[in-house]
Amino acid sequence: MTDVESFRRELREFLEGLPKQLGELPPGNAEYWGGRKAELPHPQSKRYCELMAERGLTAPTWPKEYGGGGLDKQQARVFAEELKRAKLPLPLVGFGLSMIGPTLLQFGTEEQKQEHIPKIVRGQIRWAQGYSEPNAGSDLASLQTSARLEGDEFILNGQKVWTSYGEKADWMFCLTRSDSGAKKQEGITFLLFDMDQPGVEVRLIKLISGASPFCETFLSDARAKRKDVVYAVNKGWTVAKALLGHERNMIGDVFGTAGSARGRTATPLADMAREYVGEREGRVSDPLLRDRITQTAFDERCFALTMQRSADQLKAGHRPGAESSIFKVYGTELNQRREELMLSIRGPQSLGWEGQGFDDKELAQTRTWLRSRGNTIEGGTSEIQLNIIAKHVLDLPD
Ligand SMILES: Cc1cc2nc3c(=O)[nH]c(=O)nc-3n(C[C@H](O)[C@H](O)[C@H](O)COP(=O)(O)OP(=O)(O)OC[C@H]3O[C@@H](n4cnc5c(N)ncnc54)[C@H](O)[C@@H]3O)c2cc1C
Repeated sequence: MTDVESFRRELREFLEGLPKQLGELPPGNAEYWGGRKAELPHPQSKRYCELMAERGLTAPTWPKEYGGGGLDKQQARVFAEELKRAKLPLPLVGFGLSMIGPTLLQFGTEEQKQEHIPKIVRGQIRWAQGYSEPNAGSDLASLQTSARLEGDEFILNGQKVWTSYGEKADWMFCLTRSDSGAKKQEGITFLLFDMDQPGVEVRLIKLISGASPFCETFLSDARAKRKDVVYAVNKGWTVAKALLGHERNMIGDVFGTAGSARGRTATPLADMAREYVGEREGRVSDPLLRDRITQTAFDERCFALTMQRSADQLKAGHRPGAESSIFKVYGTELNQRREELMLSIRGPQSLGWEGQGFDDKELAQTRTWLRSRGNTIEGGTSEIQLNIIAKHVLDLPD
């Protein structure tokens, strides 16, 4: 038996043994974000995460010394396959795993890695991203939140905005202005701080979809420890850009590799069309709709394969570069196309907000469609990604 086969057998035994330890297993779509204020999508989500973390399976490819699984590319693929086979969800999701964790592995000191990575891996600390400000979005380097060094601490003052899940997070990774006299990219420091302190106030922002998934964060003499500067004082722009590469890859991945997980949980578009529009000779009756559904299915499959290739490269140690902007633009626009198509299929039934005339799936559809409008804005707008692709991928002149 090869190493990979014995790895698969051992993993399968472990996953098949989980029902004994947990009783009921979380379903494939139960997303657990962890943290001190953890919400449980399923009663066993936390325990499931802990059992997986004991084996390094919440961060399968991260180094073992910080609690990761140390899996190579092939083993990581086996892990994904076995998880899918067992119809289990990822044990843990969040900005710790997708953004600040990989960034600390690249730029953090040994002390920072020892301090923060194991808590991310075990789902003990949930992270928020403090980048955008009211006057610094696309032009992020114009940010004004100030960081003034006093002894061993930085004193932080300013406002962040669009802080996703800020009210649920424990720690923030934050871009601050530490030298207002320098060229704007050169006076930025990347800091980490605990949000549970008197100088941090988080206010919910209500969205068009009715939900409040993000917040404004006000910092009034909040404190960050000097040891929690990532990389170096005034050199935070380098770290900020690297983290954005991870973020854009992650967003692309949500609609690519991970998006294929939709196949497990969502009704296929063709089945939905048969139900709402009708069928003729076993096929969706409307030929134009059939064409759009087929094209979307092709595009989703191709994109999933591309993201799988990119994931394999990351597992082999490649760092995301400007190509993450391509994945971000394509993945988010593809998702918006899918949402629009579902609207066409369900017609007026996908425009309900409440009431008896709509079932739960239809009501959810209205909200996911509205939520998808933000896909081409979050993590940097499509226009900004196209600028990056023009400059850094295609090498076009300014
Ligand atoms: C769902 C969601 C979640 C988010 N979560 C977070 C978070 O957790 N943390 C965080 O810090 N931020 C978060 N953001 C903020 C996000 O990063 C910003 O909204 C984004 O970078 C755009 O900035 P802005 O909103 O200030 O728009 P602006 O920068 O004001 O842009 C307005 C418009 O002008 C266009 N534009 C601007 N400059 C150029 C240019 N040079 N060339 C061409 N067009 C241009 C833009 O494309 C856009 O269409 C989130 C946003 C969304 C929608």
